[in-house]
Amino acid sequence: MQLRENSRVCIIGGGPAGCFAAMHLLDLAREASVRIDVRIFDPRFAREDRGIIGCKGCAGIVSANALQAIESLGIHIPPSVIQETIEEYRVHILGQVIRLTQPRPGRTILSVYRGSGPRAHHGEPIASFDAFLLAEARARGAVYVPERVRAVEWNGAPAVRTDSGVHTADFLVLAAGVNSNPVMDPFFEYTPPAAEIMAQDEIRKPEGWPPHTVAAFFGDPKGLVFGVLVPKKEYLNVSLLGHGMGPDPIREFFQAQKEPVSQYLPSPPESCCGCGPRVPLHAAPRLFGDRWVAVGDAAVARLYKDGIYSAFITSQGAMAAAFRNGISASSFEAGYAPLARRIAGDNQYGELLFGVTNAIIKSARLTAAFLYSLHVDEQRPPEKKILARLIWGMLTGDESYRDLFRMSFQPSELAGLGREALRRQWRMARRG
Ligand SMILES: Cc1cc2nc3c(=O)[nH]c(=O)nc-3n(C[C@H](O)[C@H](O)[C@H](O)COP(=O)(O)OP(=O)(O)OC[C@H]3O[C@@H](n4cnc5c(N)ncnc54)[C@H](O)[C@@H]3O)c2cc1C
Repeated sequence: MQLRENSRVCIIGGGPAGCFAAMHLLDLAREASVRIDVRIFDPRFAREDRGIIGCKGCAGIVSANALQAIESLGIHIPPSVIQETIEEYRVHILGQVIRLTQPRPGRTILSVYRGSGPRAHHGEPIASFDAFLLAEARARGAVYVPERVRAVEWNGAPAVRTDSGVHTADFLVLAAGVNSNPVMDPFFEYTPPAAEIMAQDEIRKPEGWPPHTVAAFFGDPKGLVFGVLVPKKEYLNVSLLGHGMGPDPIREFFQAQKEPVSQYLPSPPESCCGCGPRVPLHAAPRLFGDRWVAVGDAAVARLYKDGIYSAFITSQGAMAAAFRNGISASSFEAGYAPLARRIAGDNQYGELLFGVTNAIIKSARLTAAFLYSLHVDEQRPPEKKILARLIWGMLTGDESYRDLFRMSFQPSELAGLGREALRRQWRMARRG
């Protein structure tokens, strides 16, 4: 089973995974001088809707890895789409603030809007990152079909049903994320990844907001893994990630984090949008079959962070396997499954890291020891920093969870940090 001249590829979903899949496939086809018919189905871009209709609930941080990957396609995010370049994270843990800057100089992080801006936004719609990617996919030859896919059936090949008709595909790419009703017929044996609801809002950015800075919060309320306030020109995105958060997580967050938040926001913030998007927690049990493959969130994504980059690499891996080895299940097993397993395996390290961080925060003694080590770590030369790099990597997706885990649990590194912490404590005790 191979893609040939005039093969039709139907992509369900025009988010990052769907657009990257289209771009990878069309680039591979052009290199091989083969013409293929690529169609992206998604109702979301038919109008420039503000608020949740035109959006995909997301903090909208484009990591350094994602940025480099996007540039490798020969595209550059235009200034109108960039809301802010991020240079610093201020991490609030139980009354302490730790200021972290990019530990690896030269790596840029951006914030963008995935839709056309918050519901309460007036004036011109804000330039959308997803709409920009879709325009790039169309410029390479993809056809945009502004319709919702109602079902995918099997008629000897995948058949995509929308309200206006049926499109039979030689090859189907499922890039529908985890926030809509499943469409795949039971024949495909596809079930979406287990996912959990998170919380988001947009609020007005106060005048004195520190430039190029994300504020991150660990600790309360119950269930919070971490929360961030991400600057986007005149707004701040509020993004809460957690397990089993309460019924009104945004309100509970602002109550629980009143003190650190008041350093930035003089009065209680007014909601300008608000949604409860889902994040996948695990990989989908089945990611491919003959003539179909799932990519992005619909397949597997990095836990909590950097889903845009996961969308890029899963699309790249799956489309390379499809184009070079063929569109059978065995081709994806050989060419795509190892990548998906690697991401799922990496997430297990992520779960461990977030689990340990939250266990530390629950114990006052461990938190005090951790914060002390962090202050010691802050004063070390950039190449020797462990904890700063660990927290930066966990919050930004800049490094794999596996690398962060190995780095932070290397006995020699930890012993070095511990020795330094003890030396400083001893010196301080002698001084007074
Ligand atoms: C609270 C939160 C914060 C996050 N913050 C970040 C962050 O800062 N940085 C980051 O990189 N990632 C972040 N993520 C993860 C990121 O949003 C996702 O990993 C990423 O959007 C996945 O891209 P995707 O294309 O696979 O899916 P989506 O972006 O979900 O795109 C799926 C597309 O499919 C379309 N669709 C669905 N069903 C159908 C259908 N039946 N017919 C046609 N079209 C359909 C939808 O309209 C949508 O456009 C965050 C996620 C959450 C929940």
